[in-house]
Amino acid sequence: MINIEHLVKNYGKIEALKDISFNIQPGEIVGFLGPNGAGKSTAMNILCGYLSCTSGSAKVGGIDILENPIEAKKLIGFLPEIPPLYLDMTVIEFLKFVYELKGCTLNREKHLEEICGVVEIEDQKDRLIRNLSKGYRQRVGIAQALVGNPPVIIFDEPTVGLDPLGAHMLRDIIRKLRDEGKTVLLTTHYLPEV
Ligand code: ADP
Repeated sequence: MINIEHLVKNYGKIEALKDISFNIQPGEIVGFLGPNGAGKSTAMNILCGYLSCTSGSAKVGGIDILENPIEAKKLIGFLPEIPPLYLDMTVIEFLKFVYELKGCTLNREKHLEEICGVVEIEDQKDRLIRNLSKGYRQRVGIAQALVGNPPVIIFDEPTVGLDPLGAHMLRDIIRKLRDEGKTVLLTTHYLPEV
């Protein structure tokens, strides 16, 4: 489902990625482990089409992210290290906005209702995102990744800054995603988490 081959990324003289290759099968949950500065975010950003690579290739569902970015991105739900949220929207306004942005064709109310159930934010839907705790903001970040029902979910350092309860909840959500047959790739610098 995810194929990375001989990926190299240089930022000027900094070699952030030095020829990495790996494959992830459909339905697998994979932790991408490395210390800070190892190149994890760089690899995720290339895989999700936010950055170009110096050489090598990244494919999702057999589609090259550089050659056919729109089709490849349709297969990916991405939660970057800093969740991309509009703080002045309520949770449900934001999720409707993401739904429109992604051009979804599923039944909107039903689909967003299901997602709010998975991340357990049903009772937070009408609150402004700016007033939510870090843990709840992270759940909204996960919810936006799930909009459109993509088969591949990528989380970059999803538990950084969460309290133990928040981190536990996140692992529960990842288990639910596994039960739905999704392919999940998450980065972390925290070995026990993997
Ligand atoms: P990680 O996510 O594992 O902490 P990163 O991918 O953020 O690692 O960074 C890998 C290396 O690339 C680090 O040495 C970092 O300083 C460098 N780096 C990351 N982004 C940039 C950038 N935009 N410009 C220059 N160097 C960068």
